[in-house]
Formats: sequence, C-alpha cells, structure tokens
Amino acid sequence: MKQRLLFLGPPGAGKGTQAALLAERHQLLHLSTGDLLRAEVKAGTPLGLEAEAVMARGELVSDELVLAIVRSRLEKHQGGWLLDGFPRNLAQAEALEALLADLDQRIEQVVLLELEDGVLIQRLLSRGRADDNEEVIRNRLVVYQEQTAPLIDHYRQLGLLRRVEASGTVEEISARIVTGLVD
Ligand code: ADP
Repeated sequence: MKQRLLFLGPPGAGKGTQAALLAERHQLLHLSTGDLLRAEVKAGTPLGLEAEAVMARGELVSDELVLAIVRSRLEKHQGGWLLDGFPRNLAQAEALEALLADLDQRIEQVVLLELEDGVLIQRLLSRGRADDNEEVIRNRLVVYQEQTAPLIDHYRQLGLLRRVEASGTVEEISARIVTGLVD
C-alpha cells in the first residue's frame, strides 16, 4: 500500500477526519499543520503568538514557519506519513520536494478530496472552531482557490494526483481513498 501521502482539498472537505482515520488504521504518521499550529497557539509559544492573528483572519502563516514544523517532524520519523494541510501553495510544495530529496523519500500519492462549496460552508459552520465564522470561512475559500488550488495541476502533471469524491459517510469516503492506495 502507498504510505507517503498528501491530502489536498478545500477547508471542510474532511481532510483531517480522513487523514486521522487512515493514519490510525495503517500506522502512518499524521502531520496536520493546522493541528500543530493550533497546539502552538494554545501553548502560547512565540511561534503560536505569531500564527494566531494570521489564522484568525483565515490567511496563511508564513512558509518558513510551517516548513520548520514539518521538517522537524519528518526528519526524526521512520516509515509512512500523511501530510494534511501542507503544502498549501507552490512555494511550500517546492520546499517539501527539496526536503524529501534530502531525506531520500518521495510522495507516492496526492489524494484530492473534492466537494462543492455549499456543502463545505455548511460543514464548517456546524463545526464552530474559532476561525469558522462565515466571513473567515469565505476568506479561507478564496485563499484556497488562489494559493492552494494551483497545486492540483502541479501534482497532476507529476502523475501523482488522485481525485476522490468527498460526499457521503466517513466510511464511504475512507473506502474510496483506500481503494486508490492499494497497488
Ligand atoms: P482547514 O482544513 O479547515 O483549512 P487547517 O486546520 O488545515 O484548516 O488550517 C487552519 C489555519 O491554519 C489556516 O487557515 C492557516 O491560517 C493555518 N495553516 C495551516 N496549515 C498551513 C500551511 N501549510 N501554511 C500556512 N498556513 C497554514
């Protein structure tokens, strides 16, 4: 089974839920930059203080900062991993490729979770996280379209992209993902 994976998709598509489930069932390291940043904010570290206001606006935290977080985790890990919420723009994708080349590893598949905007917004509004009010959600969707969506074409050109319909139950979506990971 493929075990070096990226999860790509708009906010609300269920990346975090699916990534956590897959990581647990297949003993992969689940790296969510959103979760890691929220932990820094909660702990009140200098990094968290820098990230907090940016996240509250729905903008992206600096590439340097998230890359440092990802690098420190991947460097000390042996075995499979699943990146969720990173990379989020082309500069991050390029930095990740350089990091993986250093580690002599490569991405085996990019799972794109696709869902229409109306459903995304409903899901996010019902979740109620600090950055889940309507205005910030709209901004996150704009940021996604402008900065993250270009990665779809990037990974399609590399032959790594697999599209997965992200509607239905958690188990239905999970089964669709797993089908594509088995060689
Ligand atoms: P969602 O999937 O709902 O967008 P995340 O938990 O992935 O939520 O991210 C929440 C916020 O954390 C983002 O809006 C952004 O401010 C910040 N963030 C997470 N990952 C990154 C990243 N790779 N680069 C920059 N900012 C990030």
